[in-house]
Amino acid sequence: MKVLLDSSLRRGLQRALLNWYRSQARDLPWRRTHDPYAIWVSEIMLQQTQVETVIPYYRRFLLAFPTVGALAGAPEEKVLKLWEGLGYYRRARHLQAAARLVVKAHTGQLPADAQAWQALPGVGAYTAGAIASIALGEPAPILDGNVKRVLSRIFVVSGPAAGSVVLKKLWALAADLVPAKAPGDFNQALMELGALICRVDGPRCPACPVRKKCRAYASGDPENWPQRMPGKRRPHKTMVAGLVQVGGKLLLGQRPENGLLGGLWELPGGEVKSGETYPAALRRIFRSELGVDIEPGKAAAPGVQHAYTHFSLTLHAYRVRLSGGTPRARFHQALRWVTPGQMVRLAVPLADRKVLRICLKP
Ligand code: SF4
Repeated sequence: MKVLLDSSLRRGLQRALLNWYRSQARDLPWRRTHDPYAIWVSEIMLQQTQVETVIPYYRRFLLAFPTVGALAGAPEEKVLKLWEGLGYYRRARHLQAAARLVVKAHTGQLPADAQAWQALPGVGAYTAGAIASIALGEPAPILDGNVKRVLSRIFVVSGPAAGSVVLKKLWALAADLVPAKAPGDFNQALMELGALICRVDGPRCPACPVRKKCRAYASGDPENWPQRMPGKRRPHKTMVAGLVQVGGKLLLGQRPENGLLGGLWELPGGEVKSGETYPAALRRIFRSELGVDIEPGKAAAPGVQHAYTHFSLTLHAYRVRLSGGTPRARFHQALRWVTPGQMVRLAVPLADRKVLRICLKP
């Protein structure tokens, strides 16, 4: 590892951060354990998701799957159901695929170091470093969004924040800083500082334990770091969905594994093209994706709003009647006719869940 920092600066930062963390850290459920499996689950859930959102999901997940063996042996549908609402469902599928690999190829033994963790599906350098340092005491570096911001400010690292040169520099700083003793606490201290003090919505420098060593603070304008990338607006989509009910059962399709909301069970439907009426869009989509002709009836849930991370949508749901052909899965992995009782056990996209709540009221 390349040494970048003066040893007294390194020691001073380590001491200040560790002392602060030990007196100020939030009491979070995954901080009460050293079980690598539990820490792994928490780290996967925390990717792109707020701490407060993750806590109840983490508790329910570990109650249902307390060990890697329990997760490996569970039906995928049960795993996705417990993930419903947390988003980025690929994380759940990777987690279970990795658990199955651990059970099958490593007799249930979890990896013993950061490098071996990285060989599992869905585990990148950040997650591997977090698990290895927190659960195994390995001085492995981590670099998530919070740590990037903190290090960019302490060391005034300039250049586009997502650029490869800056990332390389930040990884090198993180590796140089992580101590041999208490690396897990130190890494969590960096993340905690980013979450609570050196925040994305502005740094709270007067409360910061490292302000005397922070070059951004010394500059008088710490918000100049990290360098912002021009923001992109979240696109908005207009979509339609069809409720086909036959004999008390509703038709759902399972979305393809790879891609947005992969593996979830949805109402058949899709995006409306410019100039198209909603019934025409439904006819087109049912014909191309299920190979059937339909007659759209009444609008059952018009204008349901929902926002996913990458886009927001307005969803118009119609009751539809099959008028020709038998539904076949052309776009979906599978189709299924389900009763309302069966539906509550399936993982369904949140926008569709809103529609179902409106349309299937008893
Ligand atoms: S002094 Fe301010 S800018 Fe520097 S690390 Fe602390 S909160 Fe961030």
